[in-house]
Amino acid sequence: MADLAINGGPKACDVAWPRWPVWSDEERQALNGVLESGEWWYGEKVHEFEARFAAFQNARFGITTTSGTTALEASLLALGVGAGDEVIVPPYTFIATVSAVLRVNAIPIFADILPETLCIDPSDVERKITPRTKAVIPVHVGGMIADMDRLLALAHQHNLVILEDACHAWGSQWRGKGAGAVGNCGVFSFQVSKNITAGEGGIILTDDEDLADLCRSFTNCGRGKDKPWYQHFLAGSNLRMTEFQGAILLAQLSRLEEQTLRRQANAEVLTQGLQQIPGIRTLPAEPRMTRRSYHFYVFRLDETRAGVSRDRFLQALCAEGVPASAGWPYPLYQNPLFAVKGDGPDHCPRSCPYYGREIDYTQVRCPVTEQICRDAVWIPHTALLAGAEAMEKVVAAVAKVVAQAPSLR
Ligand SMILES: *Cc1c(COP(=O)(O)O)cnc(C)c1O
Repeated sequence: MADLAINGGPKACDVAWPRWPVWSDEERQALNGVLESGEWWYGEKVHEFEARFAAFQNARFGITTTSGTTALEASLLALGVGAGDEVIVPPYTFIATVSAVLRVNAIPIFADILPETLCIDPSDVERKITPRTKAVIPVHVGGMIADMDRLLALAHQHNLVILEDACHAWGSQWRGKGAGAVGNCGVFSFQVSKNITAGEGGIILTDDEDLADLCRSFTNCGRGKDKPWYQHFLAGSNLRMTEFQGAILLAQLSRLEEQTLRRQANAEVLTQGLQQIPGIRTLPAEPRMTRRSYHFYVFRLDETRAGVSRDRFLQALCAEGVPASAGWPYPLYQNPLFAVKGDGPDHCPRSCPYYGREIDYTQVRCPVTEQICRDAVWIPHTALLAGAEAMEKVVAAVAKVVAQAPSLR
């Protein structure tokens, strides 16, 4: 076998990876159309996109926002989550899931994830419920949907609301229903790294008309439906997107299904190949998911069996030409926001006056998340748009690095 590329050998994976974002004349014409019409502001295109994206995910209502982050914040406000409420969140996610909770002056309570799905563990959620718990935010990590059956049952039993962070799950389905439309509401991001993008943007989906009206009001200056322009009912914000974004997103949406199916097929090729390699652990399929979108593909490295550390393995794999990364480096509660006692203006979450007690986040332990942060390997959604031969080369590169692990020490 050839030497590892990191040791001067030839690359196992000489692939010209697809560029991101994907765009064509469709986007160009859509943008020009908006430009020349002079109708730049929150109108026809935005509302058409809201209706189409909601229909794509099987939700009744869609309310666009400026980002996934602001979609989370507006959803929490509309769901009535506020000062001193506890919200159960996973620590294996992007900061926005948890910072949104703090922004509405609520208290994040961390529950661990399951090693099979990398999504929040319903049994740990159940252990963390108190009389102050108001909501749970499952995150559909990489496009894998959290166990919504058990979470909805817990919500029903304890009178909680479920806000799905579906910012990785455009196109994923749970028992035939789109992600984000299974809980009380769900949010998506259209930031540039995401599978459908306008540079920035977000949306809230829900089947609940009253909740949809509240979300609209919170994202549009507290205005009321069919009410006078300068009459305001809530302490809202301006989270509107522009017609330029609406037009781009409509063009992007026209490709989403085909891209989702291509990524799903390529992920299958990866799983078939990678599960044969000693020291590599692939994640099991979730039979309740009727369609699986991928924001990234994840496998785990068993460092002991493979005989190499994850970080050294990644250096060698990247040198072979695979665009892999370690993903989130540590659980969210190890960020300075939680781990360092400060006296800055954001005294929450440590000592919110309306919470009445202090939480010491340095005491939080979520062992599964900590292990996954040490052993996960992510392959981005952009790579999953390449051909099936490219996936075979990724598998070959992983096999090559594992086979020559002793030369990496
Ligand atoms: C990207 C992302 C967000 C935030 O979306 P923005 O549009 O970047 O604000 C929230 N949650 C998760 C899981 C994300 O990946």
